[in-house]
Amino acid sequence: MAKIFCVANQKGGVGKTTTTVNLAAGLAKIGQRVLMVDLDPQGNATMGSGVDKRTLKHTIYDVLLEEATVAQARARSEKCGYDVLGANRELAGAEVELVAVERREARLKAALAAVGAEYDFILIDCPPSLSMLTLNGLCCANGVIVPMQCEYFALEGLTDLVNTIKQVHANLNKDLQIIGLLRVMFDPRITLQVQVSDQLKAHFSEKVFNTVIPRNVRLAEAPSYGLPGVIFDAASKGAQAYVAFAAEMVERIKKM
Ligand code: ATP
Ligand code: MG
Repeated sequence: MAKIFCVANQKGGVGKTTTTVNLAAGLAKIGQRVLMVDLDPQGNATMGSGVDKRTLKHTIYDVLLEEATVAQARARSEKCGYDVLGANRELAGAEVELVAVERREARLKAALAAVGAEYDFILIDCPPSLSMLTLNGLCCANGVIVPMQCEYFALEGLTDLVNTIKQVHANLNKDLQIIGLLRVMFDPRITLQVQVSDQLKAHFSEKVFNTVIPRNVRLAEAPSYGLPGVIFDAASKGAQAYVAFAAEMVERIKKM
C-alpha cells in the first residue's frame, strides 16, 4: 500500500511545488512507483510535470466531485516517470461545491484508496492555505513534509500549520504526523540562514530532514520546460539534493 505524503506550508512561494515534483522524480529515478497529486488550482505541479493543465479531460476536481475515478483522471508523465492527478483553475470552485456534501474532507481519501496498491508513494502538492482542499490532503496522508526557508519569519507560520495538523490528528486522521521539516533554497553564505538552520535542528531535532536543498537556479528554470529539475539537469546541485532527499524518504518509510 502506498504511503501518502502532503507537501504543505500555508506560506506562499516556499518551495512546496518544487519539492513535490522533484521528490516525485527523484523517487521514480530510484525505482519507486509514484502518483503526484496536484491539489492547487494554480496547477503548477501539473505543468511542472509536463502535463498540460488546459487540455486535461479529467482533473482532481472531477475526482473530488465523484464525477471521475483516479484511474480515469490520472495521466502518465513519461518524461518524469510518474503518474499525475492534475489540477487547473476549475479546482478553485470545488471549495464551494463541496460545502453541502457530507464528509467532504474525506473525498480524496476515498478516491485514493482505490489506487493505493499501485504505488509506493503518493505525493500531494497543497495550495498555500489551510483550506478545504488542504484539509482533504491532510485527511488522507500518513505524514506531512514541510518545506521551509531558513529565514527569520519561517517559524511564525509553522504554529498555525502545527495546530491544524494536531486538530486533524485528533479528529479526522490519527495516522497524521509531521514527517519532517525540509530546509529549502538554502544559501550557506548567508549567516542568518545558517543560524536559523541550526536553531531548527536544535529545536526540532530528528523532525528536520538531514538533506538540505540548496538555492539553485536550475531548479527555478526547469518548470518553464515542463520538467522537474531532477530530469531537466540531473547533474545540478539542486537535482542531486532532491535525489538524496528521495533516498532519505525511502529510509524513513521503513520506520513507519
Ligand atoms: P505557492 O505557495 O505559490 O504554491 P510554492 O510553495 O509551491 O508556491 P514554488 O513554486 O515551489 O513554491 O517555489 C517558489 C519559487 O521559488 C519558484 O519560482 C521556484 O522556481 C523557486 N524555487 C523553489 N525552490 C528553489 C531552489 N531550491 N532554488 C532556487 N529557486 C527555487
Ligand atoms: Mg505551489
